[in-house]
Amino acid sequence: MTTRRGFTADFEAKVAPEALRDDKTIQEIAAKHKVHPNQVSTWKRQTVNGRTLPPSQRLEKSSANQLALADEGSPMVAMNFIEGTHAFSEAELQRHEITQYRVPRFYREHIRASGSYEQLKHIVEPSLQEFSSPGTLDTSGEGENTVVHGLQHKYDQTGLLLVTEQCAAFCRYCFRKRLVGKSKEEIAVDYEKVAEYITRHPEMNNVLLSGGDPFMLSTTRLHGIMDHLLPIPHLTSIRFGTKTITFNPRRFADVKLLGLFKRIVKAGKTPVIVAHFDHFAEFSEEAEKRILELREGGVQFLNQAVLLAGVNDDPEILAATIQKCHSGCTTVLPFPGSADDGCLPFSGPFASRG
Ligand code: SF4
Repeated sequence: MTTRRGFTADFEAKVAPEALRDDKTIQEIAAKHKVHPNQVSTWKRQTVNGRTLPPSQRLEKSSANQLALADEGSPMVAMNFIEGTHAFSEAELQRHEITQYRVPRFYREHIRASGSYEQLKHIVEPSLQEFSSPGTLDTSGEGENTVVHGLQHKYDQTGLLLVTEQCAAFCRYCFRKRLVGKSKEEIAVDYEKVAEYITRHPEMNNVLLSGGDPFMLSTTRLHGIMDHLLPIPHLTSIRFGTKTITFNPRRFADVKLLGLFKRIVKAGKTPVIVAHFDHFAEFSEEAEKRILELREGGVQFLNQAVLLAGVNDDPEILAATIQKCHSGCTTVLPFPGSADDGCLPFSGPFASRG
């Protein structure tokens, strides 16, 4: 079958997945296949919006893992998995809590050039194993420790604040799959109420901004949150849980962001960035440069690696990762991959199943 402009369906089905992979620009793909960039964009959009890929691009119902493909009436979505490109209905993806694929160009290029791509790809590239990975979506009882919408108080000294559901990339092992990239429902909205609660709890000496990744918010928005937190006298540190320093360190070149940390220091509190470098090869030159700049500006850096089968379940890799942290991060203990839905591929010998 050919389209109005004479492209065969197979040709479309070959080009569209390349556009979805995002490892080349639309212009590069268009040049490679000698078609107009608009045509490539259209095929990409049509694929996401429900165009069914030809059978050669799909998993067969009779395949060993018996993945259900087409839910009647639910649009089909093509995704690139480590095992290849496959199309699933949106309903199927939702049922299995499959987080969308998102990786910024910086990180994608960095890991491909890192020499450790075979390990690092598992951090961000989806796998078909996620469909057959059991678990729950709130392994650490976050719901029951929520004291004000968006604020959790599990450990006396720490308040955990969910400030956004967005991340620069979506980690396949994330233990908040229930919300990242999906739902704003648990995100704090009333920071006055949050501040009131913290003010009434002098045992709380630090607040950890999390989500999602706080550095997906604009610097102005972060200043707005600080308006509520910095006047609270018993808070001695403001912590930021982030992987943006890994995925997109250029975010930290923003001079206004440096101003935010200076403001925290001026308020008599310690700004702390809790980074998540899981593997030594995730440290880019740019990240190391930004860490040094931020440390000079009074920001304390910690690193919390997640123990991940297939990524860093090797003493030499862990030792090299800790060694790499000596350039500017203090390593805090790695913690095991979670038992969240879809995380089983990472559990290996040390997963916490509790
Ligand atoms: S950056 Fe953090 S919150 Fe975002 S997907 Fe990765 S682990 Fe989850």
